[in-house]
Amino acid sequence: MAKNYHSYSDIKSGLISGEVSVEQLVKDYLQQINANTHLNVFNEVFGDEALANARALDTRLQNNEPVGKLAGMVIGIKDNICYKGHKVTASSKILENFTSIYSSTIVERMLAEDAIIIGRCNCDEFAMGAANENSYFGPVKNFADETRVGGGSSGGSAVAVQAGMCHAAIGTDTGGSVRQPASFCGVVGLKPTYGRISRHGIISYASSFDQVGPITRSVEDAALLFEVMAGPDEYDTTLAHEPVPQAAGLKKETGKKRIAYLQEAISSPGVDADVKATLTAYIDKLRADGHTVKPISFELPDYLVPTYYILAMAEASSNLARYDGVHYGYRSPNATDLVTTYKKSRSEGFGKEVKRRIMLGTFVLSAGYYDAYYAKAQKVRRLIQDKTNEVLDEFDFILTPTAPEPAFALGLKEKDPVVTYLYDIFTVQASLAGMPAISLPAGNNSKGLPLGLQLLTKKFAEKELLNFSEYFLEL
Ligand code: GLN
Repeated sequence: MAKNYHSYSDIKSGLISGEVSVEQLVKDYLQQINANTHLNVFNEVFGDEALANARALDTRLQNNEPVGKLAGMVIGIKDNICYKGHKVTASSKILENFTSIYSSTIVERMLAEDAIIIGRCNCDEFAMGAANENSYFGPVKNFADETRVGGGSSGGSAVAVQAGMCHAAIGTDTGGSVRQPASFCGVVGLKPTYGRISRHGIISYASSFDQVGPITRSVEDAALLFEVMAGPDEYDTTLAHEPVPQAAGLKKETGKKRIAYLQEAISSPGVDADVKATLTAYIDKLRADGHTVKPISFELPDYLVPTYYILAMAEASSNLARYDGVHYGYRSPNATDLVTTYKKSRSEGFGKEVKRRIMLGTFVLSAGYYDAYYAKAQKVRRLIQDKTNEVLDEFDFILTPTAPEPAFALGLKEKDPVVTYLYDIFTVQASLAGMPAISLPAGNNSKGLPLGLQLLTKKFAEKELLNFSEYFLEL
């Protein structure tokens, strides 16, 4: 098995001293991938290409040529991220044979810094899900317990890092899809502020929420990947022009902070006992370290999940209209005219959950129901943003569990989508408010399953969030 480097700086020193070669790193990861194909982590491994790129990079290193910030970092990308000349499927039948004709901005930026992309990771179809069980290519299994899910929707990306199949992975987070699988797999998952990282070349799910985020073993690597990927891009006009914090400036926080935690996370019967105990233990440690830690009751908890789903489904129904059997992707062989081309291609090409969301999204946008659902949800989103800002006027961070339970058994929640939707209770607040949040590993439960805690903070305060995370992990 590949040596599991905790952070990229450990690799970098080895590369420079010649102790480690990029080729050997890639070989080790490929070996780990091949030994664990049953976990179903990758939709495709770019093995030969990764090895060839590794050899070329080794030659440059041997010649003392300058190399990029990610030289030798081996990365898995979620299969909804376009990489020119490579397939991208969003784990859907409808895109099963689709090849990207251009690269996403983030792929270009990572390649420009000499990252090696080792493959595309399994995910929920069009990133819709919380367990990676909605993939056309089958579920991803958790490396800590193969009878359990790896989380979703970026399940493949999280398990790839957990299982040492690559050094880091990239996911996308619309309502929690970087943070929740990271917490199920005992790794770090950062969702940046909305508008930090370009969405150009990312297959859209819900455009006003979608954000790319790194999944890593260390906070240091999350900071580095964030630095490389973030910043203005002419192809995405929603991007902010705020300065991007540099990873080199990452400094373990030493100051005393004000931290709010959600009272309901401890009082609610819906939260697992081990998760509560972990949260309580961290609260005690923070207090003992001199921070001010206070319970709060968020005023609108019951509105978080419904508001998120109304808006995400509405946006999805619009975004997914492009898969019509005409422009690109799957076209039904049973179609006989234009209407049956649309109907049959979409009926046969999309999975159950995606169809459910397209229908619900279309419903909430329809003339008779628009005001009652979509317009109202927009107003509630604003209230949620305002209330979250009010809390953050008084506190530096909001601390919650990332998910109410650790990784659950495969097949357990599949039958009732609402049960899965409620799973997002702690993650959707940051998504609705457009704020950054990070999931940090917080030990294992008695069954050896990883648990994660989430920190949420003000827009564009990633630097403070990462600095505090660096401290938090050592608590
Ligand atoms: N579980 C949420 C959903 O199904 C979040 C998914 C995501 O962030 N992509 O929409």
